[in-house]
Amino acid sequence: MIRVLLLPLLILPSTLSAPSPLFEKAKALVLISFDGFRFDTLNSTIAPNITSWAAEGVLFKNGVQPQASTVTAPNHYSIVTGLYEDAHGIVGNIFFDAERRKFYDIYNLSSIPGTIEESLNPYWYTSETIWQSNRKAGGHSAVVHWPIGDVASGNDNETSFHAWREHGNLSKWQDEVEVVIDSLLEGKNLVAWYISEPDHTLHTQGFYHDGHFRRVMADLDVTFGYFLNRLKTLELYNTTDIIFTADHGHAEIRSLDVVLCMDEYIKGQIGVDYQVSDYTVLAYTEQQAIEVFESLTKAVAEKQIPAKVMWTKDVPAEWHFSHPSRLGQVMVLPEIGTDARFKCPWKDPATFHSSTHGHAPEKKEMRAVLAMRGPSFAEKREIDSIPQNIDIFPLMGKILGVPIPANNGTLERVELALRSPPSTEDTVEDPQLMNSNIARIFNILLILMPIAVLSIILYYIIMRVRRGPNKQLAADLTNEATEPML
Ligand SMILES: [Zn+2]
Repeated sequence: MIRVLLLPLLILPSTLSAPSPLFEKAKALVLISFDGFRFDTLNSTIAPNITSWAAEGVLFKNGVQPQASTVTAPNHYSIVTGLYEDAHGIVGNIFFDAERRKFYDIYNLSSIPGTIEESLNPYWYTSETIWQSNRKAGGHSAVVHWPIGDVASGNDNETSFHAWREHGNLSKWQDEVEVVIDSLLEGKNLVAWYISEPDHTLHTQGFYHDGHFRRVMADLDVTFGYFLNRLKTLELYNTTDIIFTADHGHAEIRSLDVVLCMDEYIKGQIGVDYQVSDYTVLAYTEQQAIEVFESLTKAVAEKQIPAKVMWTKDVPAEWHFSHPSRLGQVMVLPEIGTDARFKCPWKDPATFHSSTHGHAPEKKEMRAVLAMRGPSFAEKREIDSIPQNIDIFPLMGKILGVPIPANNGTLERVELALRSPPSTEDTVEDPQLMNSNIARIFNILLILMPIAVLSIILYYIIMRVRRGPNKQLAADLTNEATEPML
């Protein structure tokens, strides 16, 4: 019985790890991606609204690492599935599946008619997204222009999809904020929202030409600020978690002289005599692959372009960038400041202003922004470590409280962002959090004190009951011993 009474003493301390009652519980999570938003372009001059918002919440100040290949479609799929590209199979914006004999080209980079429609076929997308996990657990989601988000879900009538191809230009962004807001008002507990800038502007204008980049960042910042104000006005701000990130960073190309136009050095015609992915060449024979390798190696040397021509099978294992049927044998890996493209339709150095991505994922310039704020997250916490974008998936699963499938993400790399992370040397408790812990300990003691007193009293009573007959027996024995034997 005493053991039963003492059982609460063993159980109740575990409630110390529960969320603080001082904060409201999150009712919804909004995942935002601004395409190509590099982590180190977030500052109070360029984006004051986003910067001040991030400073109040959690900021991974060194950004988040994308997956190889560091391009748009596969990384957006990695963020919402937690999978490496070779695991979910979308290994580029463009690739040829030699087994299926089908061409994937979601942005029609090849200008081949019908490729976008082919790329929208659901058979390309076999991995579970966070909104599918949410739906299985009874949640409701909205997907607002997330790249390939609408086709990656198969038949799902319970999720509101706004097709990624219909993402608007600058003038429509405030309307899209209202789509996100309406989704929250409808009771959606997960919204994935995508905007195609600053990537588009960077590709055409670069970082430094004529103020284009600053202007688009200012517009994005106003849009973000408008979104926050709408949340506050509707009293949704304190119950909404926001994760703000991007698919990759960007790197300015120094000049047209350091761009390798690969089609100029490979015999034949793309799509006929050989196939390509973003940065690999798929030759039809081993001999042809050797010729491509030697030709591109010679071109890089002659033009003195800082790029590495390599066999795809030799890419670093930690990239998890391999596929039995969707990657070519030869890969060109340009250094930061350079680029390698299969076609170069723009060849006038006078009008060339460009930035790009697709470089090695561990390069600083390829890292995307990552910040978060809301009831599930710590406040005013800067984190030095660099997670991968696949880690966002298990983090979302934890916040939403939904079971998620096996994935390549690591929750431990991002859980320092949570309001009550596990105790580690890197954790910095903020005063408000410490006060809430003290309050919880005090509440537990109020519960335990009467139980402890009652336990002691019962213990005393039981011992008295047990001890009574024994004492009488002892007295009898004493009497027997002291009386003379007759
Ligand atoms: Zn992108």
